[in-house]
Amino acid sequence: VKIKPRTIVKREVLPGVKNVIAIASGKGGVGKSTLTSNLAVALAKAGHSVGLLDADIYGPSIPKMFETEDARPMLDKVDGKDRILPIEKYGVKLLSIGYFVNPEDALVWRGAMATNALKQLITDGLWGDLDYLLIDLPPGTSDIHLTLVQTVPVTGVIIITTPQDVALADAVKGISMFRGKSINVPVLGLVENMAWFTPAELPENKYYIFGRDGGKQLAEKLNIDLLGQIPIVQSIREGGDKGLPVALTESIMAQAFDTLAHSVAQ
Ligand code: ADP
Repeated sequence: VKIKPRTIVKREVLPGVKNVIAIASGKGGVGKSTLTSNLAVALAKAGHSVGLLDADIYGPSIPKMFETEDARPMLDKVDGKDRILPIEKYGVKLLSIGYFVNPEDALVWRGAMATNALKQLITDGLWGDLDYLLIDLPPGTSDIHLTLVQTVPVTGVIIITTPQDVALADAVKGISMFRGKSINVPVLGLVENMAWFTPAELPENKYYIFGRDGGKQLAEKLNIDLLGQIPIVQSIREGGDKGLPVALTESIMAQAFDTLAHSVAQ
C-alpha cells in the first residue's frame, strides 16, 4: 500500500511569526514611526513577543527612536546560511537598514537595491517565534509596498493619518492601494494622530490644530475601524527624540498606547 505523504502547509518565510502587521501612511511626517515604536513597546509590555522591522529604507527612524543608532546586528550561521540577529531593546526585536548603512548612502539607491535590502531584512532576519511583527513602511505608495506583500504574507495593515485634508487625501490613496487587486491586504484599522492639542495651562481646552475628527470621519466613510485618536503631546515627541518611547513610562500617554495595543491585539 502506498501511503501518500501528508501535505504540511508551512510558511517558508517567517514560519514562526503569527501576525505580520504593516503600518502605513499616505503622507510623511504624520507620526507613523512614532506610533509604530510606541505600539511595539505597548504590545511587548502586554506580554506579546514582538518584532519591529523598519522598512523605511530611505528614512529609517527606528534606530533613533529606540536609541540604538550605534548597534550593529551580529550574524549567525544557521544551516550553512548567514542569518541576521535582530537588536533587542525594550523587549522588542529590531531590524532596520539604519543598522547597516549610512542613511545618506541609502538615499541614492535605486529602487531595486532598496527592495533587495528590505527582502534581506525580512528573509535573513532571525526573527524566531513572534506574536507580532510590525513593519514600519515608507510613506506613500511605492515599489517597496509591492515587494513587501510579495515577500511575506501580511496579515493586515494599519493606516496612520492626521486629521488634516492633505494627509487624509494621501491616506485614501494608500487605502485604495492596499485594498486594490495587486496588493489586496486587509485594512485592520486607522489611527488618527495629532488629533488635538491641550496646553498645560488650559487643561480643559482642546485645540484641533490639524482639523477635527478628520481621521474618524474617514474611517466611518470607508468602513474601517478607528483604532484610536492620539493627541499632540510634548512627551511623545521627546520620547522619540530621546529613544525612550513614552509607552514605557508611567503616564496617561502610556495608557493611551496600552489601549491602542489592546485594540490591535483583539
Ligand atoms: P513619520 O514616520 O510619519 O514620518 P514621525 O513618527 O517621524 O513621522 O513623526 C514626525 C514628527 O512628529 C516627529 O518629530 C515626532 O516626534 C512628532 N510626533 C509624532 N506624533 C506626535 C504626537 N502625537 N505628539 C507630538 N509629536 C509627535
